[in-house]
Amino acid sequence: MADRPWWRDAVVYQVYVRSFGDSDGDGVGDLEGVRARLGYLELLGVDALWLTPFYTSPMVDHGYDVADPRSVDPLFGDLEHFDALVTDAHAHGLRVTIDLVANHTSTDHEWFRAARESAPGSPERARYHVRPGRRRADGTTGPPNDWRSEFGGPAWTELGDGEWYLHLFSPGQPDLNWTNPEVWADLEKTVRFWLDRDVDGFRIDVAHGMSKPEGLPDAAPGRPDPRFDDDGVHDVHRMIRAIVDHHPGRMVAGQLHVPDDRFAAYLRRDELHVGLTGHLLDAPFGAGPVRAAIEAAFAAVRGTGALPSWTISDHDVPRPVTRYGGGPVGLARARAMALVQLALPGTVYLYNGEELGLPDADLPEDVRRDPRRAAGRDGCRVPLPWEGGPPGFGFTTGAPWLPIPEEWTDRRVADQLEDTTSTLSVYRRALELRRCHPQFTGDGLEWYGAPDGCFAFRRAGSTLVCALNASPDPVPLPPGDVLLTSSPMVGDLLPPDSAAWLA
Ligand code: BGC
Repeated sequence: MADRPWWRDAVVYQVYVRSFGDSDGDGVGDLEGVRARLGYLELLGVDALWLTPFYTSPMVDHGYDVADPRSVDPLFGDLEHFDALVTDAHAHGLRVTIDLVANHTSTDHEWFRAARESAPGSPERARYHVRPGRRRADGTTGPPNDWRSEFGGPAWTELGDGEWYLHLFSPGQPDLNWTNPEVWADLEKTVRFWLDRDVDGFRIDVAHGMSKPEGLPDAAPGRPDPRFDDDGVHDVHRMIRAIVDHHPGRMVAGQLHVPDDRFAAYLRRDELHVGLTGHLLDAPFGAGPVRAAIEAAFAAVRGTGALPSWTISDHDVPRPVTRYGGGPVGLARARAMALVQLALPGTVYLYNGEELGLPDADLPEDVRRDPRRAAGRDGCRVPLPWEGGPPGFGFTTGAPWLPIPEEWTDRRVADQLEDTTSTLSVYRRALELRRCHPQFTGDGLEWYGAPDGCFAFRRAGSTLVCALNASPDPVPLPPGDVLLTSSPMVGDLLPPDSAAWLA
């Protein structure tokens, strides 16, 4: 175990910095707010943090539009605050990983401002994908190709002089041109900058992006999406990994939305350590779909030496309680899925608030802030209820940037810490067992026969069994001592929408 890299079984806690803790009362979370809560994270029992972007940004996409990747936005603090956070996190036994946004910048980045002010064909424009419009049959001019933005609408915006720039996300996020050596040199500088400030690793945003196919061809029906997963992206990962490898113990994870048969390529020995997959995020609650998702995630990494990673929530999708049906049933299922993911070998990513059983907040249209037009993501980004009541719930002394629902008095951290049956207590116990119990070993899984609507797996080479009951009836458990259940047993039976660990 001693030479096993720390991330292989780590539980990484995603801190959505805007929504975790606000130290200065402006209603937006910040780095000092995270630092003040490190004791909580240590108590929770996670191994590492992933901080979402805190870099200088006009916040069109809440920081995923980066104006200066080697700085801290004043909204979140400054570099001294960052250094203090890393030092204190390390003192609490927590590693710190940070987001690296390499596919695009903000339109406020000095490069893009220069591109805007420069002439067509200038070197300033060559750092982005800038093209003349395409003449349509009716004589008018439109975008250079037919690509759509992930946030809706065309992926191109006019600069006002006949040229258009590419943005796969919002118009505030122009895509960088990865055929330009300056773009490479700048990312190299950024990676070194943060490694020198002692970060333990990175989560690469849109890790299947960056490189674009030559000529930016139109999307063709039945062909792979030309916007992502271009073969050239692997050179970018090799460059990042080569730098990181000079810093032993640091890791690179990447967000990957690619077909399963394209996944393993990103986990080659000189690319990512961890590929973040959406397998569990995409699976509806049910023994069949969840088992299929787990098997697909293992199949996707086969032959790489890497383990799959697991997550049931992040800042881009509705929270599990809501996805699995909402109300008490949604909560029970989310707790069950927490035990499923935490029983699995590989890196687990938790998203702040998941451990509290928060649902998506139902927000009125006028407070919503997400630039993604359809299916806005604000509902899963509401600040955490720590203690007290509205409006601040201990998150802020001011007015939170998104309103915290009044009924979240029943989800507060302070109460859940005291209540041994709370969702937070289930997470704490699960994390403690995952960390300390000797049976949490073995990189493979063996599946047991199980009643309809249920599954049970054992971690290969160990006695640890995880059983899920997604059927409508209570079921008997496989043999073994019960270590933990996600909801109270009904006599000897595991109730519906529940999971159990046995050893
Ligand atoms: C992040 C999103 C962000 C997008 C653009 C995604 O993969 O997770 O939150 O909007 O990248 O940077």
